[in-house]
Order: sequence, then structure tokens, then C-alpha cells
Amino acid sequence: MVAKNPWLVEANLIGGAWVGADDGATLAVVNPATGEGIGTVPSVGRAEVARAVAAADAAFPAWAAKTAAERAALMLKAVEVIRANAEDLAALLTLEQGKPLAEARGEIAGSAAYLQWFAEEARRVYGDTIPSPWADRRILVIKEPVGVVGAITPWNFPSSMIARKIGAALAAGCTAVVKPAELTPYSGLAWGLVFERAGIPAGVVNIVTGKPAPIGDEFIENPAVRKVTFTGSTAVGRQLAGRATTALKRISMELGGNAPFIVFDDADLDRAVAGAIASKFRNSGQTCVCTNRFFVQAGIYDAFAAAFAAAVAALKVGDGFEAGVVQGPLIDGRALAKVEGFVADATAKGGRVLTGGARHALGQTFFQPTVIADATAEMAFARDEIFGPVAPLFRFETEDEAVAAANSSEYGLAGYFYTRDLARAFRVAERLKFGQIGVNEGVITTEVAPFGGVKSSGFGREGSKYGLDDYLDVKYVCIGGV
Ligand code: ADP
Repeated sequence: MVAKNPWLVEANLIGGAWVGADDGATLAVVNPATGEGIGTVPSVGRAEVARAVAAADAAFPAWAAKTAAERAALMLKAVEVIRANAEDLAALLTLEQGKPLAEARGEIAGSAAYLQWFAEEARRVYGDTIPSPWADRRILVIKEPVGVVGAITPWNFPSSMIARKIGAALAAGCTAVVKPAELTPYSGLAWGLVFERAGIPAGVVNIVTGKPAPIGDEFIENPAVRKVTFTGSTAVGRQLAGRATTALKRISMELGGNAPFIVFDDADLDRAVAGAIASKFRNSGQTCVCTNRFFVQAGIYDAFAAAFAAAVAALKVGDGFEAGVVQGPLIDGRALAKVEGFVADATAKGGRVLTGGARHALGQTFFQPTVIADATAEMAFARDEIFGPVAPLFRFETEDEAVAAANSSEYGLAGYFYTRDLARAFRVAERLKFGQIGVNEGVITTEVAPFGGVKSSGFGREGSKYGLDDYLDVKYVCIGGV
């Protein structure tokens, strides 16, 4: 179907050279929409990762010594390369990830936007002067890049998750080794080609692929790596965070979510339904900010359930390359089995399937977009992240009840609610314990705003003026004898 994509590269980038694993080991990569193999990528061990870290370490002084304007100019060249090749990069993304081409185009545009944002922010890394308590001394605070960054990214946004991390790292003056997810490595490796074409010096960004454990171990144990940034599951993040903290490295953790979406009686119904579709079904439900639990007030419950189920039933499922498709496959068989498990658990406990509820006739890992009414706190999806196209509808009576239920999760990444009451909009936004809140909006991510969570969703913020902080150390300089 796809002539060889010019951005598909089957090697790793280490110190400016495209190389395989020392022992020639590879991992196969599959198109989830067809089950067909796309190709292979190197499966490296610790020795190759150590060389990548050494390359990043060697490149660090010169990269950090460039002026912010010089770094920004190179980053903006990379933005141009992405925008000029957006169609091929989007096709590569759909090929390995399965998301509809329109969503892939959106992600590539987002990657360019993050990189542009951080290029612009590079020149605004301000320090401080502090009034001195000593008459003969002056106090300065300057900000310096933390050093070599190890970045680990997931398969659901194989391009833009790298942009958020590497954009900030490069702007701050850091160098990096990136480990894309093994299910979707090509969009990660394509960044190497982008940076090469932009003229970013060899070793500044290195990209390695393979089994996760050896790469993660090297990031944590190699003393030259000064920061580990991770986006992925809470289970893996918790383990990495513990070890990286023991090694006294800086860490950022963007972990799982369990987003609530509250529809109050006074909501604009059409707007709430549109927001619910966007929030739940983007990337077939496979984003960490996707709604996990819909809480709908009793007075609007039936009307919302009917309108939402009708809209969900109309979503076109299929290969992401097919025109009009808005729901692609799930990433793999494990994800499919997990979603089936949630539906079986819910229906066994009294959940009512309004639409969907089973695998899709297309086979592979396609699942029908599903709405389940009469959801209760005993069902597994009340607690666990679904990460698939299943929308449970819980009923509530009072605002207090909804806020308590929404907050009764170990996670705290994103939350949404719909109301036309201005006082309630402020009140509920302040009471919800989540890092990001959408009021009458179901998709709120943008490079200019801080992305990140609280509680078991992790810490650190990506994008926005706060996004550089995680890549900078604060240094205090005291000048005496003045
Ligand atoms: P998901 O459930 O979204 O696949 P994971 O946390 O398993 O989430 O994966 C996110 C990223 O973390 C991927 O790049 C994966 O390869 C990586 N990863 C998984 N286990 C480890 C580990 N032990 N050490 C380092 N990286 C890991």
C-alpha cells in the first residue's frame, strides 16, 4: 500500500552515525491496522546506549555554549523541515500507530508547534538578582542546562511526546538520548533525520531502540545522564522514578490518568456531546487525558446518554489511511483484551451497553466504539485506566457527590466538566484535584499551556513557560568585595 516512506529509517542514531545493534539484533514493527510487518529496528543493549550517552555528553559543552538565539535558529530549521514534510511524517505515524491520518497530521503539526514554542522560549531563560543582605556583596541567580537527558516515550503519541521533551531540552542547552516506544519506533527515529537536515550537530540528539529494560537501566545508572524524563504507565514510571531518585537525578514523570468528565444539568447538551466524543475517542481512547469516567447529573442523564450513544454509533472505524475513518485499531492484542475485559466486567455487574460492546467485524485489533450506561463504582473502569474506546456513564445527584467521585481516583492528570453556571465553573475547577481542567472543553492540550499531573499521574510540566524549568538548574552566584 505504502511506497517506502522517505522518513522510515531502520537504524539508530548515535553520535551522528546511523548504526545497528552490536550483535545485529532487531525488533519487528507491525502495522496494527493490517497485522503486516513494516520492517525492523535495532534492538540495542547497554553498550550501545552507553555510547549514545557518551556522544551526548561530548556534544553537551558546545551545545550549551551556543547562544540561545543560535540554538533557536537551528530548532526553527527543524520546524521548517517538519512542516515541509508533514504529509510523509503523518503517513509514517499512521502506518505504525494506526491513528486516522487526520489525527496523525494534527500530531505532526503539534510536534512542530512544540519545537517552535521552545525555540522561542530559549531566549527567555531569565535569571534574577536578589537584594543582598551584605553591603559589600551582590547576589545573582543564573539558570544552566541540567546536562544529558534520557527521554523515554510511549506509543500513543510517538512524535509529539518526543517534541515536548527534546524541544525543552534543546532550548535549555541540554543534549539527549531518546528511547521511543518499541511498538512505534519509526516516528521517533525520523526525528533523527529531521535534526540532521536542520544542521543540529552530531551527538546533540541520539536515538536508540530496543527492549526497554537495558536502555532504562543505562539511563539510570550512567552518571553522565543528569535527568530522566518519562511518559508512560504509572507502574513503570513509579519504578523508574524510585531508582532515578536514588541515583539523585532530576526526573519528570507524565504517567497514567483516569479523567472524569462531569455533565451538570445546566450544561449545553450539544456542546457536551461534542466535547465527550473528542475527549473520549481521540486516538481510539488511547491517550492519558482521554475521559475514563463520565459523571452525568440525573436531570440530563437520559438525554445525554441518548445523544452521546447516537454520536458514538456514527463513528467510522477502519484503517487510518481510509477516507472518513475517525477510529483506528487499538495498538495491540493486549490492549484489545484489556478493553474486552472492562466490558465483560461491567456487563456482569449490571452495566447496560447502549452501543458497541464487542470486537469490530474488521478483525485485527479493531473494537466497536462503546457506551455503557448504569456504571457503578464497583466496576473496574471506575478505578483503572481504560485506554480504549469504551465510555462508562455514571449517574449523580449533587455537585458535592460528583466532585467527590471524580476525585476518588489515585490519578490526577486531566478533568473536564460542563456547566453554564459561572460560579460553579470556578468552584468545581478549584475543587477538582487534577493538573489540567477543561470547562466546557473536551480537548485542551496546546504547546502554550502546562501539561502534567498530580498524585499518581506524576509531576513536572511539559510545554508552556513552565516546560523549561525541568531542564534547568538554578545557580546562585555571590560576588564579594564590591
Ligand atoms: P504503555 O502501557 O503505554 O506501553 P509503558 O510504561 O509500558 O506504557 O511504556 C512507555 C515507555 O516506557 C515505552 O517506551 C516503553 O518501552 C518504556 N518502558 C517500559 N518498561 C520500561 C523499563 N523497565 N525501563 C525503561 N523503559 C521502559
